[in-house]
Amino acid sequence: MEANNSDELSTFGIAQQQLDNVATLINLDPAIHQVLRQPKRELTVNFPVNMDDGSVRVYTGYRVQHNSSRGPSKGGIRYHPATDLDEVRALAMWMTWKCALVNIPYGGAKGGVVCDPSKMSLAELEDLTRRYTTEISILIGPDSDIPAPDMGTNPQTMAWMMDTYSMHKGHTVSAVVTGKPIAIGGSEGRMDATGLGVVIVAEEAAKLVGVDLVGSSVAVQGFGNVGAATAKFLQKAGAKVVAVSDVTGGIYNPGGIDIASLLRYAKDTGSVQGFLGTEPVTNAELLSLPVDVLIPAAMQGQITKHNASEIRAKIVVEGANGPTSPDADAILHDRGIMVVPDILANAGGVVVSYFEWVQDLQAFFWSEGEVNLKMKGILDKAFAQVTEAAKRHDTTLRLAAYSVGVGRVAEATSLRGIYP
Ligand code: NAD
Repeated sequence: MEANNSDELSTFGIAQQQLDNVATLINLDPAIHQVLRQPKRELTVNFPVNMDDGSVRVYTGYRVQHNSSRGPSKGGIRYHPATDLDEVRALAMWMTWKCALVNIPYGGAKGGVVCDPSKMSLAELEDLTRRYTTEISILIGPDSDIPAPDMGTNPQTMAWMMDTYSMHKGHTVSAVVTGKPIAIGGSEGRMDATGLGVVIVAEEAAKLVGVDLVGSSVAVQGFGNVGAATAKFLQKAGAKVVAVSDVTGGIYNPGGIDIASLLRYAKDTGSVQGFLGTEPVTNAELLSLPVDVLIPAAMQGQITKHNASEIRAKIVVEGANGPTSPDADAILHDRGIMVVPDILANAGGVVVSYFEWVQDLQAFFWSEGEVNLKMKGILDKAFAQVTEAAKRHDTTLRLAAYSVGVGRVAEATSLRGIYP
């Protein structure tokens, strides 16, 4: 594979380059390619929030809808100090391909607010969330655009969003967001869905490269919603989680870390640092540990041309969105390291979000067993379609996954035609 200096590109530039690569592979109609290269709709909002100390602070937020040819757009809300329009555009585009790849009737969207939730009180976060929801309510709705949690947001954030939207409508609209607490229309299994999906996909990938997940060693970067659930299910599946990290740094024990105890420890102390029996590692060191499976589950842009030659894992399973740059992809491919792309690896979250939306619309709820079984069916099918496409095109799993996802969006776009 050829490297193409992707590390100089912005996050959205990378997303566009990935689309360009697959356009060549599948001979995408140039007109449709042009349409899909840009988001359909972008909204920037600047809004004031009353802070606890009596001051007023103006925050900037975004909601970007990349595409809605296959249904309402869907995508999480990120609260992070470094988020910007470029990042939200990329994340929205990736959501379009992800929803199409797992064949659920959604387009892609994403939202974000530039803030540091770790430095805000609960009251400030509630006020910020309610005002941001109000500002983007011209776009969101159960038939048009359905947010969910992402970095820095959680079920409580979704509860406030749902309540704010419902107050404006004058009645409860549960289906406007997913990832809600179960008591107000959330789905069984949603909290753990992304992590469980990562492990379901990792098991299939391990079979492909002849690694037995039972007894294999795994490093997980990020210990939030995705990373913590992934580590928990990996241990349940018989793997040895030897390293995990969060924003403050990582911990390592080649003999394995007990994830249930670590979850309690991280909840009590606010970080994984200093967990008994482990030695500290930096986030950069964690990526190059001698493990069978590496799971980046924190941020985008972690594996680049600068560190791709140091990765020692046999398989990289992308729990996070966009952790590997195209340059790094090329290096890993040349080194025989399999990369399971984000739009497949972390799709369990949006699949169960879809189930939550369906359950809310029908006001009829399923058991956790039903949810997990249906999600596994969808992920297994998508995995098989991706490996089949990889063989047919003689290409990487990423380009294969894109060929399936982009192909479906292109078909819908062409069938619908250009209005007017
Ligand atoms: P989260 O906020 O719950 O957790 C993020 C974790 O990453 C935390 O442990 C944090 O300390 C750590 N972190 C933050 N910055 C870091 C850095 N620079 N280096 C190392 N660690 C860092 O977020 P999440 O929901 O778990 O999302 C993680 C990733 O997974 C994101 O890329 C997100 O887009 C993606 N994702 C999330 C979902 C979901 O359902 N939540 C679904 C699909 C994909």
